[in-house]
Amino acid sequence: MGVDGLYGRSGAFEHVIDRINAAISVIGDPDRPEVMRFPPGIGKWQLEQSGYMRKFPQLAGTVYSFFGSDHEHRALIEMLDKGGDWTEAQATTQVALTPAACYGVYPTVAARGRLSDDGALVDIYAFCFRNEPSIDPARMQMFRQREHVRLGTHEQTVVFRDLWMSRGRAIIESFGLPCDVAAATDPFFGRAGKLLATQQREEHLKFELLVPITSKEEPTACVSFNYHRDLFGRAWSIETTAGEPAHSACVGFGVERIALALFKHHGFAVKDWPRDVRDVLGL
Ligand code: ZN
Repeated sequence: MGVDGLYGRSGAFEHVIDRINAAISVIGDPDRPEVMRFPPGIGKWQLEQSGYMRKFPQLAGTVYSFFGSDHEHRALIEMLDKGGDWTEAQATTQVALTPAACYGVYPTVAARGRLSDDGALVDIYAFCFRNEPSIDPARMQMFRQREHVRLGTHEQTVVFRDLWMSRGRAIIESFGLPCDVAAATDPFFGRAGKLLATQQREEHLKFELLVPITSKEEPTACVSFNYHRDLFGRAWSIETTAGEPAHSACVGFGVERIALALFKHHGFAVKDWPRDVRDVLGL
């Protein structure tokens, strides 16, 4: 689309995305998650309260718009005519771009009051934004994540995370893709971020399922398995029945990356993909 990391999608590509989502639903729907769908924007306040700006300021996107008068509009047009920086005439709105699909879930669950004994299980699907322009087609600036999010006790969330680690691998293997699961860290910003990354690795909080797409040496994370401890429980005052801060975990499928991996390994003509892969995907 004239910007690194922004892509349109063809009908054929979207059909594969739909079938990937359907395959995830076959595995996840029997758990009866509550389905929630959020727009690709969240409140700017949500970005603040979640702690995102403290850890990942370099990835965040905020929506700006024009709030000026007729006079300022004329100045804006003059700036456009001169080929100058017209964005100076803009100011920030209340909207930020969704950085991870599950960010809409925590304030929503928090607003309902204390969790039940069963905790909460939510199915999410949203466009996300990250400010990391790249010519690697597997590193998009705007992409979709299909997630399941679990909130509850430490035990409930760890059981969920471990269950999805084996399910995630089984799903990707059923697509005929080579994969590996490895410990991972989030791209925390700056010097303080190095410490956070070390902690995250030592405490086994994040794992990624990797599939070679553009490089064998540096395979691409197609699914991530995240245990947040009580980070979001505290940030949003979500409590378990015992009145403790809730723990949370999420599994996120990068559906565009999985589709790219399928095209990379099985070819551009879906009709020529292995029969068993097409059967699993219903293609
Ligand atoms: Zn998540």
